[in-house]
Amino acid sequence: MVIDPFGRRISYVRVSVTDRCDFRCVYCMAEEMTFLPKAELLTLEELDRLCTAFVELGVRKIRLTGGEPLVRRNVLWLVEQLGRHVAGGVLDEVTLTTNGSQLARHAQDLARCGVRRINVSLDSLVRERFEAITRRGMFDKVMAGIEAAKAVGLRVKINMVALKGVNEDELDRMLAWCGAEGFDLTLIETMPMGEIDGDRTAQYLPLSVVRARLAERWTLTDVPYRTGGPARYVEVKETGGRLGFITPLTHNFCESCNRVRVTCTGTMYMCLGQEDAVDLRGPLRASEGDAALRQAIVDGIARKPKGHDFVIDRRHDRPAVGRHMSVTGG
Ligand code: SAM
Repeated sequence: MVIDPFGRRISYVRVSVTDRCDFRCVYCMAEEMTFLPKAELLTLEELDRLCTAFVELGVRKIRLTGGEPLVRRNVLWLVEQLGRHVAGGVLDEVTLTTNGSQLARHAQDLARCGVRRINVSLDSLVRERFEAITRRGMFDKVMAGIEAAKAVGLRVKINMVALKGVNEDELDRMLAWCGAEGFDLTLIETMPMGEIDGDRTAQYLPLSVVRARLAERWTLTDVPYRTGGPARYVEVKETGGRLGFITPLTHNFCESCNRVRVTCTGTMYMCLGQEDAVDLRGPLRASEGDAALRQAIVDGIARKPKGHDFVIDRRHDRPAVGRHMSVTGG
């Protein structure tokens, strides 16, 4: 097990398998994005080696993300390879975060490869609004994907970015819908990452405010449930479901951070909100053995910073970090 300078055990790695996405969510990307040439990306075999090195260093959970992980060609091969670590008892979980657009055709295979839970991002249940937020998303396709995942027995958690004046009037409805479908729901504060076309200050909705509003209508009880990620959960008495809050701005949760992130080019970021990074592609390609790769991972984790410094207000209207969430992997 690798432990960082602040005594935090690194047991979770999020791997972005592609920076490409078929959506252009307004808080995440600009309408026109320049993506990496495909030749720059680690191959699936290299991603497998990289993930395996993390497992050998004591990582217990791997999340594939992006960009949109399910638009990477043959990504199911990687999921299947990682599934062998779960079957072997050295990894607790392989999971992924998806926008759901390709889920209908992949749900069955994900379940077959040993995936038990997935996070699906869904910011609105109103078709026109969903299509405006995602700019390219097709509502029916995503809903069909979510239903397919449910049908094959995958546990679904819905991730919803709370956006002021955009979907804040839908929070009760989303909570009720998730409760009826048997899905947990996690609300996320918008983070200042990368240039977008819009104004982040205008979009930012503090979840402290949201929680107080929801508590007027729903009975919310704090529960110690954790999935290994940053969300803090309450139980919703009326639905029997769970509601999570990811609050990088109103409540910094870095003290319990157990994660690092790797981009699709093999750059490891020790913190979502800081620039410091370590190249893993060099050591990965330098030899067939993984000793240098493991050493680079250990050296990077020894530099993991205490936390991020996200702020969104009128005086801080620049992104805290230049890269988009889709680069580091959400
Ligand atoms: N394409 C996949 C998806 O849509 O879930 C995975 C990648 S996406 C970058 C992962 C998550 O990050 C999504 O739930 C998305 O809403 C969220 N996200 C992206 N940019 C964000 C930002 N600036 N602040 C907060 N959440 C963001």
